[in-house]
Amino acid sequence: MDKSDTDNINCLRCENEMVTANLLTYPSSSQPIVQRTRKGILSAPVQSGVKCLVCQKCGYIELRAEEPQKLKFRTE
Ligand SMILES: [Zn+2]
Repeated sequence: MDKSDTDNINCLRCENEMVTANLLTYPSSSQPIVQRTRKGILSAPVQSGVKCLVCQKCGYIELRAEEPQKLKFRTE
C-alpha cells in the first residue's frame, strides 16, 4: 500500500493543499475509528483508523479511512 505523504490532497472547496491533523474527541481524546459489522458467526467486525485532513485556508475537514483495505470482509 502506498502510505507516502507525497500524494497531496487538495481541498474540495478551495483547492488549497490540505494537511493531516488528529481528530480527537473530548474529554477522552480518543482517536475515532470506522467499523463495519455484519451478522453471522464468521463475520468479525472490520475496522480502520480515521485520517483527518484539514484545509488551512477555509477550514474544510475531510475524513478518510487510514487503511481502507481493512474495511473489506473476507468474502468481499
Ligand atoms: Zn479549503
